[in-house]
Amino acid sequence: MKTDIIIVGGGVIGSSIAYNLLLDGYEGEITVFEKDRIYEYSSTPRSAGGIRQLFTTDINIKISRFSLQVYKTFPQDMAIKGELAEIDFKQRGYLFLAQQGMLDQLRKQNKLQQQHGVPSELLGSNELLQVIPELNIKDLDGGLYCAEDGYLDPYSVMQGYAKKAKQLGANYIYEPVKSILKNESGIKGVKLDSGLTCEAPIVINCAGPWAPELSEMLGNPIPIVPLKRQIIQFDIAKPLTYDLPLTVDPTGVYFRHEGHSLISGFSEKVKPGIDFTWKRSFFLEQLWPILGHRVKNFELAKIATGWAGMYSHNTIDQNAVIGEHPKLRGYYLACGFSGHGMQQAPAVGRGLAELIQKGRYETIDLSPLRFERFAEKNFVLEGAVV
Ligand SMILES: Cc1cc2nc3c(=O)[nH]c(=O)nc-3n(C[C@H](O)[C@H](O)[C@H](O)COP(=O)(O)OP(=O)(O)OC[C@H]3O[C@@H](n4cnc5c(N)ncnc54)[C@H](O)[C@@H]3O)c2cc1C
Repeated sequence: MKTDIIIVGGGVIGSSIAYNLLLDGYEGEITVFEKDRIYEYSSTPRSAGGIRQLFTTDINIKISRFSLQVYKTFPQDMAIKGELAEIDFKQRGYLFLAQQGMLDQLRKQNKLQQQHGVPSELLGSNELLQVIPELNIKDLDGGLYCAEDGYLDPYSVMQGYAKKAKQLGANYIYEPVKSILKNESGIKGVKLDSGLTCEAPIVINCAGPWAPELSEMLGNPIPIVPLKRQIIQFDIAKPLTYDLPLTVDPTGVYFRHEGHSLISGFSEKVKPGIDFTWKRSFFLEQLWPILGHRVKNFELAKIATGWAGMYSHNTIDQNAVIGEHPKLRGYYLACGFSGHGMQQAPAVGRGLAELIQKGRYETIDLSPLRFERFAEKNFVLEGAVV
């Protein structure tokens, strides 16, 4: 087989790139290899779907601000034959709660966000009650809130991109890539599990938590590991009469509505590795005591279900790695999103489409996320990783 661009991994990132390339009028053939036809274990459908502009670095604020605008009109823009690509984007806000000593930091973040046009607000503890009247504010000094942010259905976004990319001509092949191939002049293509090879001068590694394994086999290791993250869905005896913003407690435990239920998670310390087991004890021991303390209505809670998904975790600065590998021509990376890939997918798709077709970024300069930053020690030190 021969093609022009190979995308390994048809999750939200790979599909956004395929779509954006074709939207820009790319005339070559794009082949997306996806090993999991129903996306059972992909990170995207297991995500909490939080969309926020409340970041602390210029690059992440720019990326998420661009992406949020895309999500606002996604259903219409990605409609196929008049059928809207609904993504259930609920702009119900995103809220970081602050304890004593944290407000100064949030004040600085707020200033930077506002310089980028983000309508974030620093709230005092009493003002928090206007957002969540049932909040226990006894140990809180305030919070950072952005009403424009919210959450969406990650699976629908991914399918929206994939369906539109297919409609524009992308070729999705549901087969695992066994290895990526190179020769002395650069990328050569991929070898499939079936033994067949597919040649192309460009291969984009969008394999999420499996990206480091493929890169390691290629002889180009990347500082990324898969890390398990659990989410628990629960019901409460006394439902709230309004929808919550995605709220992050000072401990790092986050919660939001999911229909009439709620979901909650927390970045616990775990060893790197692929592991999809989830435990009720995670809720009972790590989440519930904090949830019950923070919102009275959460004291009477019942687990509905749970799941575990994988962060593609960048061990150096917890941010994505995007762009062509400096030591391997034609090898592009779009991985290591470390828990914020949903809110970056539209901008990353746009940026990589420009880089590949025009040789430069036009909409947003994504070069701060280049692989070379590790050797240069030009890290992107993001202070708001959930
Ligand atoms: C519990 C959890 C909560 C999260 N919450 C948020 C959030 O609130 N907000 C946010 O922005 N982000 C969040 N994220 C992160 C976000 O989900 C990811 O950054 C994003 O989905 C990454 O998309 P992806 O396409 O890179 O990865 P994936 O969705 O994993 O896609 C990669 C694809 O590559 C395929 N693949 C892998 N290896 C091969 C191979 N060898 N051959 C062929 N195909 C292959 C896989 O099957 C997979 O479908 C969360 C993640 C988790 C796990």
